[in-house]
Amino acid sequence: MSIRSIGIIGAGQMGNGIAHVCALAGYDVVMSDISREALDNAMGLIDRNLGRQVGRGKISPEDKDASLKRIRLTLDMTEVGPSDLIIEAATERETVKQAIFEDLLPHLKPETILTSNTSSISITRLASRTDRPEKFMGFHFMNPVPVMQLVELIRGIATDEGTFEACSGVVERLGKTSATSEDFPAFIVNRILMPMINEAVYALYEGVGSVKSIDTSMKLGANHPMGPLELADFIGLDTCLAIMNVLHDGLADTKYRPCPLLTKYVEAGWLGRKTQRGFYDYRGEAPVPTR
Ligand code: NAD
Repeated sequence: MSIRSIGIIGAGQMGNGIAHVCALAGYDVVMSDISREALDNAMGLIDRNLGRQVGRGKISPEDKDASLKRIRLTLDMTEVGPSDLIIEAATERETVKQAIFEDLLPHLKPETILTSNTSSISITRLASRTDRPEKFMGFHFMNPVPVMQLVELIRGIATDEGTFEACSGVVERLGKTSATSEDFPAFIVNRILMPMINEAVYALYEGVGSVKSIDTSMKLGANHPMGPLELADFIGLDTCLAIMNVLHDGLADTKYRPCPLLTKYVEAGWLGRKTQRGFYDYRGEAPVPTR
């Protein structure tokens, strides 16, 4: 199936980046959210990020204008239904995603491919609640989407070859590289990355080091471009906690238990950069460690 139009559900950190790269690659994009503010913020961010690419000479001002014109925003999710490919990028909560797919199903074309950008939830289980498990798969972008090269493609147990090929073709047209993962909790990147972040939070919780010493250690000692706590703030602490819970529940191994300090930050609403406070406080000129 040839994909020309892409529907995106959720205009948060990931949704806006996905809309950006899809529109720039020439796809017609319609993006929905339940929050008007999220849609407006997303469009402002896409405008600024495309502007930055123009500034660096990576794209022309005409490319920017044409891309912005290809993006339509809506509060009415049913308008996403007629797209050839749908990428769900709403909040990382299974009940939220299930409700979205349930509401969306009556508005889809028979040939529409449904995908989720979930970081950790079982693709097979999400697919089983739809009318098209064979046309359902995981389409997992990395954050920030316009910068990161990888897309993890995750086959559910029923995903057919045509669906997989169509999604691989989209990744190629976006100029990105795909890696295939089987459908097990958190797939590949987060299966390895999140336990490291969680361990960094344990090191903080147990007083092994401060926020600054933990991040400096991993940046200068392991050559990571960002420290694990800085990275956790960037991803969103709620998303990190949700992924650790999926690993813990799905693999039933205590080595994946989320650190109580991570839970505490999430309960406080200190979710990282998106709420201006997490392991660092972003409300001033420069980020200040909170511990
Ligand atoms: P976010 O909190 O920034 O955005 C989520 C958006 O979904 C919000 O704007 C919210 O209003 C919207 N939303 C909630 N319920 C909705 C509904 N019923 N219909 C439409 N929109 C709805 O979250 P995010 O970081 O963009 O993550 C989105 C998805 O992408 C999650 O599944 C997450 O696991 C995945 N993901 C996140 C990252 C990351 O680094 N943050 C990386 C890869 C994948």
